[in-house]
Amino acid sequence: MTTRGFTTRQLHERATGATPTARATPIYLTAGFEFDEYDNAAAHFGAGEGYAYTRIGNPTVETVEHTLAALEGGSQALLLASGQAATSVALLALLEAGQHIVSSTHIYEGTRGLFRDNLSRLGIATTFVDDIDDPDAWEAAIRPETRALFAESISNAANRLIDIAAIAEVAHRHGIPLVVDNTFATPYLVRPIEHGADVVVHSASKFLAGHGSVLGGAIVDSGRFDPARDGHLFPHLIEPGRGGAASIADRVGGDARIAYARESVAPRFGPTPSPLNAFLIGQGIETLSLRVERQSANALAVAQWLEGRPEIAAVDYVGLIGHPHHALAEHLLPDGYGSVFSFTVRGGSDAARRLVESLEVFTHMTHLGDVRSLVLHPASTSHVTLSADERAAVGVFEGTLRVSIGIEDVADLTADLARALAVASPVDVAVVA
Ligand SMILES: *Cc1c(COP(=O)(O)O)cnc(C)c1O
Repeated sequence: MTTRGFTTRQLHERATGATPTARATPIYLTAGFEFDEYDNAAAHFGAGEGYAYTRIGNPTVETVEHTLAALEGGSQALLLASGQAATSVALLALLEAGQHIVSSTHIYEGTRGLFRDNLSRLGIATTFVDDIDDPDAWEAAIRPETRALFAESISNAANRLIDIAAIAEVAHRHGIPLVVDNTFATPYLVRPIEHGADVVVHSASKFLAGHGSVLGGAIVDSGRFDPARDGHLFPHLIEPGRGGAASIADRVGGDARIAYARESVAPRFGPTPSPLNAFLIGQGIETLSLRVERQSANALAVAQWLEGRPEIAAVDYVGLIGHPHHALAEHLLPDGYGSVFSFTVRGGSDAARRLVESLEVFTHMTHLGDVRSLVLHPASTSHVTLSADERAAVGVFEGTLRVSIGIEDVADLTADLARALAVASPVDVAVVA
């Protein structure tokens, strides 16, 4: 019997046999999958059956997609490599050159940059709505070539909400979808699709994964695309495929948007998540409600505590009774107000710096939704490229700090802040007191 060479054996010697049923999600960390039968290859490339290549489909990734769709009350989800990838893919599945987005002014700075610097170079323009409470302001910004409205359910740096149902109604009058970035709220606090939104995007790097270890993003679609009513606005979804193949809408009906994102946009532009990251996001999701409930309770306690301190000029947290969106928050967010907010310390950027440098329990970093409490100075970091007027419009001043509250014992968070505030603005306390 001939023995194969060492190198051949190191590649091909493997145990085969029964696949046990793992209770945790197995990590299919593989670029591709064997075709067990010769004909499976053609069936995959033809009818899309089975698995072949991880950029096209992977069982670990699909397990997480299934859970996310169920939690958001959507019909399907698509997991991607980052939140930026999710926003990009969701919008590139809807828009083409010459078309237009209407977006809330109160959005993540990475998304604003995508709209202003990147999609604009592809011929996709954006109009920003400042008065996001006024449906007429959204309506007035819509043009014949508008193909999406975009907003965040809870925004940053100013803690703002949108009345999802009211803005969705405006979008639907024009046959176009409302896309909601639900990163800050998570589906535990609000499910935008239940309020009429059509597409939800997430940075899974934040609360969904929850432990600050991986990046990821997701799109969830309502599955309520109506080809007969709105198909004329999205010809790529209703026109026959190459060689006269059935259109996407003919194949999947109401799921045409997410099917197009999955079949055409994501695999071609290529922001595929690692199956290992997908596993860690899925692991995080298993404790989402517990973390977000605790984080929201902690955030409310910290915000109320800060509000009573003489060193603090303002606390911008939607959970506080005096916040302009508090009534809307009680309606939209009955289970908690989220845990990312900003506050402004008296004494400007110098006081803000001393405060950040004195904090010990809070970690100074740019991230949010972590189990640990985090702090950042937006004016010198995330919002540094905006003009002072633009910063003021989104609630960022020299003394403003953005916090993401974790699951620590809340007394340790307030004690840390108390100690750091005493170092940061001792003079101001005397002046104010
Ligand atoms: C972080 C974030 C993003 C971008 O997500 P990444 O995973 O960092 O690419 C988008 N939207 C919001 C609201 C975010 O907080």
